[in-house]
Amino acid sequence: EVFPGDFSGNPLQRNTPKVLFSSVMPVDFKKPKLIIFNEKLSEEIGLGKYEEKDLGFLVGNHLPDNIKPYSTAYAGHQFGNWAGQLGDGRAIYAGEINNAEGKITEIQWKGAGATPYSRHADGRAVLRSSVREYLMSETMYHLGVPTTRALSLSLTGENVVRDILYSGNPQEEKGAVVVRTAESFLRFGHFELMSAQQEYTTLQNLLDFTIQNYFPEIQSEGIQKYKDFFENVSTRTADLMVEWFRVGFVHGVMNTDNMSILGLTIDYGPFSMMDEYDLNFTSNTTDLPGRRYAFGKQGQIAQWNLWQLANALHPMIKDEKFLEDTLNKFGDYFWKKHDKMLCNKFGFDQLLESDEDFFVNWQGLMQEFQLDYTLFFNLLEKIDATSDLKTEFEKIAYVPLDEKALSKIKDFINQYELRLEKNEISRAESLELMQKNNPKFTLRNYLLYECIEEIENGKTTLLEKLITALENPYEEKFPEFSVKRPSKYDDVSGCSMLS
Ligand code: AMP
Ligand code: MG
Ligand code: MG
Repeated sequence: EVFPGDFSGNPLQRNTPKVLFSSVMPVDFKKPKLIIFNEKLSEEIGLGKYEEKDLGFLVGNHLPDNIKPYSTAYAGHQFGNWAGQLGDGRAIYAGEINNAEGKITEIQWKGAGATPYSRHADGRAVLRSSVREYLMSETMYHLGVPTTRALSLSLTGENVVRDILYSGNPQEEKGAVVVRTAESFLRFGHFELMSAQQEYTTLQNLLDFTIQNYFPEIQSEGIQKYKDFFENVSTRTADLMVEWFRVGFVHGVMNTDNMSILGLTIDYGPFSMMDEYDLNFTSNTTDLPGRRYAFGKQGQIAQWNLWQLANALHPMIKDEKFLEDTLNKFGDYFWKKHDKMLCNKFGFDQLLESDEDFFVNWQGLMQEFQLDYTLFFNLLEKIDATSDLKTEFEKIAYVPLDEKALSKIKDFINQYELRLEKNEISRAESLELMQKNNPKFTLRNYLLYECIEEIENGKTTLLEKLITALENPYEEKFPEFSVKRPSKYDDVSGCSMLS
């Protein structure tokens, strides 16, 4: 039975015990309109150049016979609680494609219609969230952070009703479809679902498939293979968290169903790049007041999520001590990598014992004066203790700076210069390290907000600029993006927090 994406009865939820996927047919959207097409990605994955006749495919219409679309079932822990069966509620797989080098890429439509896993929702996506996913996933890719990618963004020509948070009035918004790609969209939740249903044969098949296809480095056999897999997923996940800290990314919904088994950034929802540095910052309004998914907690939460994966894999691995030891090693591994990452951002060639205190002082300074995370490191490349610190730091602080503040900042810059003298590399090499690790462009929420407003009004000037900027995030392409968030956006919903 093929589930029709334009199904409009309710409730839509189906329980599909024992299976990993269901066949689904996307909605036949009558008047699609292309907004962005990612030519470089298309060539890379083996899809070639865009022609007008391809537009239908990009929203899930006119499918060739060899495409059998499907959506997958997964489970998850949401905000710390077991949520049972979930699944691709608004994502439909078109299948996979091989490029000339034999590299396989999975392709999904997001927003192309309901699936058996849509629960009470409609399987549609609005322009707003689609622009955000497209631009942010591509930004992450160009920053060098593992991520799913975006091939196209199209309007469906259909309006979608959405509740604007707290306004009480449902509004019509433009519907859109993003075609997204990944080596694999498999999540922790796929493994959790099979394990919870005690479908151990399918769980084992899924593990074998995943290891064989995506973990070529694992050559062991039997139970050792699954142990190596779990260690590998832990490492990849820790590495990803360090990368999120490096670029200032706050995911916002780190539920286990949003955790990629390959360690990719996946499911761009109420994410935010950090403007002012704040370990307690959560970008998700539904994450208040708990702040479970705050910026500074992402490492810890990743480890918690790995505990859930460990529970799911336990029936295959049957070695509690091994699983616990692996989980307990996560913290050490994560902090080592994290400190190395900070060293790179500061241009230090190696971690010294005194750096722990230096980093703590730095965090205090950033929190106290609400300094802009990205601009701070850009500024550090340009100044020394003799610079006009007042003028320079006023440009990157979100609170006014008085004499006392300036003297603290000056002290910190002095400490930094003393620390640089302990480097064994030259200042030029140290600067190079900084430039490679500190982006000059960051996709701030307010920029997305302005860009979406423009597209709603039929303009794409900012969109085009943002695409150029995000493709070259370690260069300053447009000076207007190298400034802190304008204060008029401080309390505008969607400019720092979202739902
Ligand atoms: P998220 O918190 O965005 O990861 O979503 C949690 C679950 O809700 C996932 O299984 C999604 O597929 C599903 N979901 C979110 N939005 C929609 C929608 N508009 N229609 C159907 N399912 C949705
Ligand atoms: Mg999700
Ligand atoms: Mg989502």
